[in-house]
Order: sequence, then structure tokens, then C-alpha cells
Amino acid sequence: MRPLTERDVRTSFVNCSKGEATRLDLPRGFADQPWDDLDFLGWRDPGAPERAYLVAERGGPLVGVALRVTSGGSRGFTSRSMCSLCLTTHTSGGVALMTARRTGEAGRQGNSVGQYLCADLACSLYTRRKKEAPGAGVVDETLTLEEKVARVRANLHSFLDKVLG
Ligand SMILES: [Zn+2]
Repeated sequence: MRPLTERDVRTSFVNCSKGEATRLDLPRGFADQPWDDLDFLGWRDPGAPERAYLVAERGGPLVGVALRVTSGGSRGFTSRSMCSLCLTTHTSGGVALMTARRTGEAGRQGNSVGQYLCADLACSLYTRRKKEAPGAGVVDETLTLEEKVARVRANLHSFLDKVLG
């Protein structure tokens, strides 16, 4: 994705208040993100671990989504979980249920969308093997990198569609 500015990020959010978007903490090392290797910018709030954010380019305009981390690590140590975006398997705690308030009327009525995602939201890097999931078995796949990236983006867009209603 293209490198974003702080202003890009703060003005992209569709499901939180302007105040929250203004106050939220950007990822550590924001300016040094590996933009070329990212399908979306995702991070946990350094000051509030139960909050996470992702910002994606969706056909041009940016869409930022604020997420609540509602679980993680409650299952047995040996259990594995899979991220619904990049399909990376992690040991306990490496995947977390993240919930986004939907936009518009649905959101005002309290509707939200939940997905199991990599707890560090580094799906783009796992997909490109720039980051390894600790203890994860490599799933033998015949897909090319391009196909895997396309799959991450397709899964991401369907998640954004649900948030946007
Ligand atoms: Zn992932």
C-alpha cells in the first residue's frame, strides 16, 4: 500500500468518533512501516491493548476500522487458532477475536462484526514470510505469493463490507 501520513490515518476511520480517531495512538515506528509489504496497516493501540485498528485502501479511498479485542489466550496452551484473513495458524494467544462496530444505523443499534485475526495484525507480513508465527506449522499450500496476497485482500474486503453494511 502507499505510505500513509498521520492525517490520512486519523481521517480514515468509519466506525468511531472523531474524538477517538484524534486521540488514538499510532503504531510504534509509524513512519518506518514496511509499506510495500502491507495489504493494510493494522496495529494494537500501544496505550490500550484491548483496542486495535486497521486501515486499508479499498478501491482508492482509505477505510479505517476501530476494533475491540474481546478475547485471546483463553484456550489451552496447545490449541491452535487460525486467522480469518491470512489463514496463518498460531498457538494460543496469537489469534484474537476482534470486533468492529458497524457503520450507520446498524452500528447505532449496537450491531458489530467479529473476526478472528492475527493478534498483532501482521497478516501481510506472515503472508509474505517476512514474519514467522511462533510455533506455527507451515501449512503446505500450492498457492503462489500473488494468490495468497489476493486471498488476504479478498478476505479483508469481505470483512470491510460487513462493517460498512
Ligand atoms: Zn492474519
